[in-house]
Amino acid sequence: MCAPPNLGLRLSQAGNRGGRRHNENVAAMLPSHEPSAHARLVGVLIDLHCHTLPLSQCSNLQAEELADLARARGLDGICLTEHDALWDTRDIAELGRRTGFLFLHGMELTTDAGHVLAFGFGAGSPAFASVEEAARAAEPAGALLYLAHPARDGLLRVTERTRTLFASVETQNGSDSKLQNASASGISRSFRLPGIGGSDAHTPAEVGRTATRFDAHVTDEASLVAALRSGRYEAVRLDC
Ligand SMILES: [Zn+2]
Ligand SMILES: [Zn+2]
Repeated sequence: MCAPPNLGLRLSQAGNRGGRRHNENVAAMLPSHEPSAHARLVGVLIDLHCHTLPLSQCSNLQAEELADLARARGLDGICLTEHDALWDTRDIAELGRRTGFLFLHGMELTTDAGHVLAFGFGAGSPAFASVEEAARAAEPAGALLYLAHPARDGLLRVTERTRTLFASVETQNGSDSKLQNASASGISRSFRLPGIGGSDAHTPAEVGRTATRFDAHVTDEASLVAALRSGRYEAVRLDC
């Protein structure tokens, strides 16, 4: 679904009528900044699926370049989801300070059930032998797992088993076709939480194609996971 939103979410009181809000809010929402009037606004747009060098060797994006592109394309924040690798918490904080942009970190796990987007593992080890093992580790860590691009390659990897392992699926992947994303949206209806959106960006042109709009403050990993658990978010397509 292309922006504007379809869930009747409360948006920023100032701007964002067209689905993209001015990013002065972002700097105000960084943990290192003092609260301001902007920080009370809601309706943040965050790309939950991005890859950068050097942790994802298949990407040609540097994190600083990603911040510039994301800001220019109307995003409020980025969640870095490297392949089977997790950014160091201090490095993420330093990246946010250096760029003045909201950076969060999850990861994209390679599992026997396909690629899995994980949020909330903090500084834990990303190495899991199976998706069941990842799900067992997610429980005590308070982390959430979403099946990434579930309709890619014509493979619908969702079964009764996977419904117990994942919070939901990715329903707007910037690298997938509209048909694949429509299939993913159908799949998501049998999960307890809505689907998420992320560009899956590996190149500059792919940044900001899709994102997730939250009806909540998201300033760090804890508030991201809380916002996901609330279910008050929607996946949005931004390049149509
Ligand atoms: Zn993937
Ligand atoms: Zn990916």
